[in-house]
Amino acid sequence: MKKLVVAALAGVMVLSLTACGNSAKKETEAATTEAATEAATTEAAEAETTEAAETEEMTEVAAVETAAEEEKTAEGGTLVMATNAEFPPYEYHEGDDIVGIDAEVAALIASELGMELQIEDMAFDSVLAAVQSGKADIAMAGITVTEDRKQVVSFSDSYVSASQLIIVAEDSEIAGPDDLVGKKIGVQLGTTGDIYVEDVEDASVERFSKGFEAVQALMQGKVDAVVIDGEPAKVFVNENEEIKLLDQPFTEEEYAIAVAKENEELLGKINDALAVLKENGEFDAVVNKYIGDGEQTAETEAVETEAAEETEAASEAASEAAEEETTEAA
Ligand code: GLN
Repeated sequence: MKKLVVAALAGVMVLSLTACGNSAKKETEAATTEAATEAATTEAAEAETTEAAETEEMTEVAAVETAAEEEKTAEGGTLVMATNAEFPPYEYHEGDDIVGIDAEVAALIASELGMELQIEDMAFDSVLAAVQSGKADIAMAGITVTEDRKQVVSFSDSYVSASQLIIVAEDSEIAGPDDLVGKKIGVQLGTTGDIYVEDVEDASVERFSKGFEAVQALMQGKVDAVVIDGEPAKVFVNENEEIKLLDQPFTEEEYAIAVAKENEELLGKINDALAVLKENGEFDAVVNKYIGDGEQTAETEAVETEAAEETEAASEAASEAAEEETTEAA
């Protein structure tokens, strides 16, 4: 374990060197704490006996359940949700849990259905296949409704309007979608960003398995722009001051929950549950918690309460690097 911590801290050092200005020390401290937490989390996770449900792939959302609810759960069974927990604020890792708007809304839907939610984390380009094959009951991953996807799964009523936004370096000449012609564009594999940049004339597309990796490539000058969903884009830009978000959206889209084509009954129940949650305000409460002025997540809270945003940028980048280092060392 010690080796892992050292590796994690080494990752931090390298990254903190790239941090600029007089807050470098503070950044290093914050980054080190973050890495230590990361390492401690890894250690705690390792210490835990390996119950099947506790593997990284199958994280159960911790829910405070009353005895009555538990009884309902036992009757209703488990609602398995496929997601890709690399998409803040919709789904991301917080310690051993997967949290975010989708994770919480899914838990509320499961509760409406008298079921227990189980989240299965996978690559984004696998979530629809998981639903098709029956490995998951629903997919919720900030999934944009498209005509092509409608051919393979059914979609619930839309629950969020979203857009693809363009992230560029602070000093970039790219000022809007039209300037992407002939540029090198980073996207997350299999997303609508990936699909729609195909139409940009003479552009070359670099595909990454995580949105954050595309953003890292942008910061390293390996791509000229990143096209990614608006809310994660805001999270990434808030954490890194050398990049900025362009105002003009690349596309306008709608997110919905995917269900297997033959599962019309579940689709109906999900739409009913969504309607109830929108009506009673619980849906908005979740959205406000993660976006806007509502109660803050640990992530956005850190961004906003830190006097210097760059502190968060360094620690976040370091934590990501530390995570990778740890994985490599393991
Ligand atoms: N909304 C985008 C899509 O559906 C990206 C979703 C994601 O990366 N999780 O393709």
